[in-house]
Amino acid sequence: MTLVRANELRRFNAGEREFAFLVPSSIVVELDGEVRSILDRLSDGPKHVGELASSKEAIEALRELASLGAVSRDGAPDVPLAELASPPVPPPLSTIVLNVTNSCNLSCRYCYEYGEDRLESPAAPQIMDEETARRAVDTLIAESGHNRRLQVTFFGGETLLNFKVIRPTVEYARRRAAEEGKFIDFSLTTNATLLTREISQWLADNRIGVTVSIDGPRDVQDSMRVFGRGLGSYDVVAPRIKELLSIYKTRPIGARVTLTAKTIDVPRIFHHLIDEMGFYEVGFAPVTSSSGLDYAIDGEGFDILLAQFADLAERYVDAAIDGRYLGFSNLSDVLGEIHKGVSKAYPCGAGLGLLGVAPGGEIGLCHRFAGSGDHDFGDVHTGVDSAKRSEHLVKGHLDHRTDCRTCWVRSLCSGGCYHEAQVRYGDRFRPNLHYCDWIRAWTSLALEAYTRILVGNPAFLERFDERKVA
Ligand code: SF4
Ligand code: SF4
Repeated sequence: MTLVRANELRRFNAGEREFAFLVPSSIVVELDGEVRSILDRLSDGPKHVGELASSKEAIEALRELASLGAVSRDGAPDVPLAELASPPVPPPLSTIVLNVTNSCNLSCRYCYEYGEDRLESPAAPQIMDEETARRAVDTLIAESGHNRRLQVTFFGGETLLNFKVIRPTVEYARRRAAEEGKFIDFSLTTNATLLTREISQWLADNRIGVTVSIDGPRDVQDSMRVFGRGLGSYDVVAPRIKELLSIYKTRPIGARVTLTAKTIDVPRIFHHLIDEMGFYEVGFAPVTSSSGLDYAIDGEGFDILLAQFADLAERYVDAAIDGRYLGFSNLSDVLGEIHKGVSKAYPCGAGLGLLGVAPGGEIGLCHRFAGSGDHDFGDVHTGVDSAKRSEHLVKGHLDHRTDCRTCWVRSLCSGGCYHEAQVRYGDRFRPNLHYCDWIRAWTSLALEAYTRILVGNPAFLERFDERKVA
């Protein structure tokens, strides 16, 4: 008779109710009735089917658990990751990130473009020309296969230093996409120093997704985000952001905060950006890649960060149960992945559906790698190097990351950012082991938040049926 075993899962409670996170498939299920009874009986080892399912309800529950990957026939291989089933033929592209310039009018100390986290010594300033931007769009379309919805993201340096190329590129991309029966969405990240009324109006008229890089209130912003001679940028950006937010009402505008050990005050930063400035949501990007720098978050800094994120998550859950959205995008991103049962074989889209393009047209794994020599994946003038992409997909697969294979958050984390690993360990395929404890603790917190919302106001989670909070 067939022996059945339970696959890896983590059980936890939300109020009176019990849930399980199914590790290989990244799905959250409620444990009640026959489902709980079957998993209880499997907790001390495999059992025969007859011992587990003697009633019609129990058979149904066992089938359901098997279809979710929570149980398997004993001896069957672990639940395979999606990408394992097929050879690593690079999938069609959906996103291209154009580094329209590597120049910037700010000199933020932590910037990977100019700071210690740059992969090579600073390159000579370069500005992408219109022809290169058009070729990048052509490359995206040519490599997009069956994907009908595509994304072009403008990045820098400071993107608005090259606004004169962004504008015609959007027009060109729209025309080309229409000719091919596709749709392109655009987004742009800016430090806001060069925003004018005309640019803000253009962004609004063209529904370009905007993320503003800003670190918080004046003292926080001015401690790291400074002009060349050390002058703070807050007083330059604040009125421009205010104008942007007053003009652009039809799409949510987010702030991206680079969080350092010197500025780690999540509640105050969040309050300023959401309540005082009026951003829709805020995402925090902690600087963790280089060790030994006085602004990098490490050791005790991770504990502080987790406690601050936990407080904000608490507020998020309360608001969600009340039917309101609190714009803490770090939590929204994980909730969205949990809700959809995302099971990753790769940490991010870099090299998968996304590539970056340097100002000169060199193609890299993502915007942070583009133009950094060894990591180039071709050129927009000669085409994408598919062999390099395949090689990357083989080496980057979760199954080749020994340290991650037994980690319970592997299907959500999958090793972490390649760029951080390259900077920290000199090898992009090394898992980012310096923050694993933090990732696991943060994922636990997010799972708890997810189930509390599931119990308190399940309708709130419907927003994650589609990709992003809006
Ligand atoms: S938390 Fe660490 S061990 Fe776990 S998947 Fe991420 S990088 Fe790998
Ligand atoms: S490698 Fe890192 S920086 Fe690049 S897309 Fe992935 S997560 Fe982002």
